[in-house]
Amino acid sequence: MDSKLSEALAAVLDDLRNSGGPIPDVRDAQWSNFPGQVTAMLYTADGSGQGVSAMAAEPLPQRIASVADQVQEWAVEELCRVRRPATWPECTWHPDSHPLAADVRDGRAVWTCPRSGHASDRIGSLRAPAR
Ligand SMILES: [Zn+2]
Repeated sequence: MDSKLSEALAAVLDDLRNSGGPIPDVRDAQWSNFPGQVTAMLYTADGSGQGVSAMAAEPLPQRIASVADQVQEWAVEELCRVRRPATWPECTWHPDSHPLAADVRDGRAVWTCPRSGHASDRIGSLRAPAR
């Protein structure tokens, strides 16, 4: 897999692991001919796959936020499939309510609360919410 994609994906996979989210089977697959677009596939245990991609020329924070958005989509579908609450990542400020959204703030990829506008630590440093 292209390092421009794998380094962005690594941060998001850390977040999935550290917050108890589902973990995709990531496989190298170039499924786009679009110039500069680097791609892979995310597979679930039942064998269904979803594409993930990044634009190699974008700065790392933008690539992380874009990949986080796509992995989030995958994670929500996977949680749904295994009948777990389909919220990932769960909002730090509003537990049992809504997911965070990936964004770039001050040159860093962060998770933000769409309701309050709060930004979490950088993507890749997520922790499971305290109960
Ligand atoms: Zn919130």
